Amino acid sequence: MQPSLIVHGGAWDIPDEAVASCKQGCRNALDAGWSILVKGGSALDAIEAAIVVLEDDPVFDAGYGSHLNADGKVECDAVVMDAATLRAGAAAALKRIKNPIRLARKIWDDCPHMMLVAEGAERFAQNSGLPLCDPAELISEAEQAAYLRCREDQHAAIHHRGHEQGTVGAVAMDRDGRLFAATSTGGTCCKLPGRVGDSPLIGCGCYADCEAGGVSCTGYGEAIMKIVMAKTAVDFLRRDPLKSEKDRSAAKCAAEDAVRLLARRGQGTGGLILLDRSGDPAWAFNTPRMAYGYVQPDGSFCTAV
Ligand code: ASP
Repeated sequence: MQPSLIVHGGAWDIPDEAVASCKQGCRNALDAGWSILVKGGSALDAIEAAIVVLEDDPVFDAGYGSHLNADGKVECDAVVMDAATLRAGAAAALKRIKNPIRLARKIWDDCPHMMLVAEGAERFAQNSGLPLCDPAELISEAEQAAYLRCREDQHAAIHHRGHEQGTVGAVAMDRDGRLFAATSTGGTCCKLPGRVGDSPLIGCGCYADCEAGGVSCTGYGEAIMKIVMAKTAVDFLRRDPLKSEKDRSAAKCAAEDAVRLLARRGQGTGGLILLDRSGDPAWAFNTPRMAYGYVQPDGSFCTAV
């Protein structure tokens, strides 16, 4: 099969001055994932590599540079899902994991459970040979400054502008037709300690089923959870092919219809990326901008904000 890869770096009101770095971040992630896929590597290795790049880039809200919670700490969530088996690995409320996607993968690999949180998740990481980091290593200067501005002014919404969101995600299909989806986030700015959004929840922030496709979401988690958006988009991919229209592929229809439902029933904003079961990419968002990138059939990268 022809491999396929799509990534995102969050749907939000990305300011003009952040556009170039968001695009570059998506390009770097495509580079990391695609170099694995073209050599015949697995979709799982490809999305892990792509997400690690995005987590390490402070322009995105995942891993290093995540938003701080109301206590001034980073708490991260991540998930990876295997479309063939429907098995996922998910972790939430992580304070000492540099690359949360690596822990999600370890949970997928060798944990009897599909989701672990907080200290239990971190203990599992240590026992699996994944080192814990100092929580301070996850805090970027920009997010520390943003947090202090928010705190001084009772978290007035205006201080959240320009850095509201920036969750990351990836969906990949390899030469063997294996499909994986993944999402990683630091959650929302100034969230209550212990708050978990849609991102690591199977079916909400991520879902993959080889009978239909794989999805990674971003946006206002409390709204995305209401409509179980990732699973909803995957179910839209199961619709009759007649659902594809003259100028919209079936994948595009599913992506746009899911985001429409987010607005109508969830009363929220956000976006998603997906690959259908043949690897056809699509995306949709109802925020002013979303950072995303995908590999075109000729192997060239397309990134956009
Ligand atoms: N969905 C994430 C959350 O609510 C935030 C985001 O996508 O930017 O935690």
